[in-house]
Amino acid sequence: MAETLIIILITVLGLIFGSFYACMGYRIPNKIKVSQRRSFCPKCKKQLKWYMNIPVLSFIFLKGKCAYCKKPINFIYPLIEIASASLFLCNYILFGFTQNFWISTILASALMVTIVSDFLYYYISDRVLLLSIVSLIITFLVFNDYNIVISHILSGAITFLFMLGIKYLGNKIFKKESLGDGDIKLFGVIGLALGLINSIISLFIGSLLGLIFSIIIIKKNKEGIIPFGPFLLIGALITIYFSEFITSFINNLII
Ligand SMILES: [Zn+2]
Repeated sequence: MAETLIIILITVLGLIFGSFYACMGYRIPNKIKVSQRRSFCPKCKKQLKWYMNIPVLSFIFLKGKCAYCKKPINFIYPLIEIASASLFLCNYILFGFTQNFWISTILASALMVTIVSDFLYYYISDRVLLLSIVSLIITFLVFNDYNIVISHILSGAITFLFMLGIKYLGNKIFKKESLGDGDIKLFGVIGLALGLINSIISLFIGSLLGLIFSIIIIKKNKEGIIPFGPFLLIGALITIYFSEFITSFINNLII
C-alpha cells in the first residue's frame, strides 16, 4: 500500500516537475524570468488559467491548441512532462531512494530542460548546470565520506579540461567551432556525477547516439547543427542504468 502511494506520488511529482522543466527550457533561452509571472501562451502571450496548465491533461482537453488564439501548442511540452514522470519512476524502481536515485534524477532533470533549450534554441543554460552541480555535491555529501566527494569533484574538473582540449584540437583540425561551450561545461557536470571511467563510457555512448541522430536528421536539416547536450546526458543516464553490466564487462576485459 505504501509502495503504491510512493509510486503515485513520484508520478504526480514527475509530471509537475516536467511541466516546470519545459517552462525553464523555453524561458531561459528567451530571457524570460522563470519566476516572473504565471504561464502564458508563447504565441498570443495571454496568461493561462490554472486549468489550462495541468500537465498532460490540459493538452488533451485543449486538443493541443491554445484556448485563446487556437494556435497549436508545441507537443514537446506534454512529451517532457510524460518523460519526466517516466524517468523519475524508472529511477525509483531501479534504485529505491539510494544515491543513484538522486544522481539519475538530477541528470534526468537537466536532460529535460536541455532537450527543450538545446533542440529548440541551441542553448544550454549555465543556471541549470550550476543547479545540477550544487544538487550533485549535496547528494555526495549526504551519502559519502569527504574523500569520495573530492574525487568526484576532481573527476568533474578533469572531464571539463579533457573536453576543452578536444575542442581546441577540433578547432585546429576543422578550422571552425567544433564543440559548444555549453557541451564542455555539461561534460564537466557528467564527470562530477559519474566519476572518471564511467563518464568516458557515457561520452562514447552519447557520441554514438548523436552520430546516429545526425545521420538521420542531416538529410532534412541543411544547417547541419546538431545539439550535442541532450545526447551527452542520455549517454550518462544509460551508463548509470547499466553501470553493473558495464563494470563487469570492463573487469572481464582487464582480466
Ligand atoms: Zn495563444
